[in-house]
Amino acid sequence: MANEASSSVVREEHVLEEDLLMYGSASGWVEARTSCDHLSSLSSDLSHIPTPDTTCNRCHHLVENWLCLCCKEVLCSRFVNQHMLEHYRERNHCLALSFSDLSVWCFCCDAYLDAQVIVELRSVYETAYRLKFGEAPPLRMSAGSENQVGDSSSGS
Ligand SMILES: [Zn+2]
Ligand SMILES: [Zn+2]
Ligand SMILES: [Zn+2]
Repeated sequence: MANEASSSVVREEHVLEEDLLMYGSASGWVEARTSCDHLSSLSSDLSHIPTPDTTCNRCHHLVENWLCLCCKEVLCSRFVNQHMLEHYRERNHCLALSFSDLSVWCFCCDAYLDAQVIVELRSVYETAYRLKFGEAPPLRMSAGSENQVGDSSSGS
């Protein structure tokens, strides 16, 4: 008597988005680099950046734009009018932060960069996170080696 209901497919979609961000081992996730040779081109003042709802400087596209981390220009993605890509080709500004998911892309490395590991990118990532979500980003635990304790409380 094999009267099994063939329609009861057990799904296992309990993977949290956070887990993917934390561990990055799921298929389809491109591992972010933890180093990049182009960080010297970063803008010297990334403490003040445009807000995540800034429109593309060229076509005024509204959402999911990129921030050039070299000159702080806001431009649309390669899936819209490719103005960030165009900007990279014109000016060779290869570092860009996505306002849609706050990932950092290096056009020269052709890879995502881990903005929470790379010290030069951490502060601008935190600034963008605050602008987008109105709070500080959660600290990522178990970073492995904690050889540098940056706990210099510079109170003024
Ligand atoms: Zn690079
Ligand atoms: Zn555009
Ligand atoms: Zn630029």
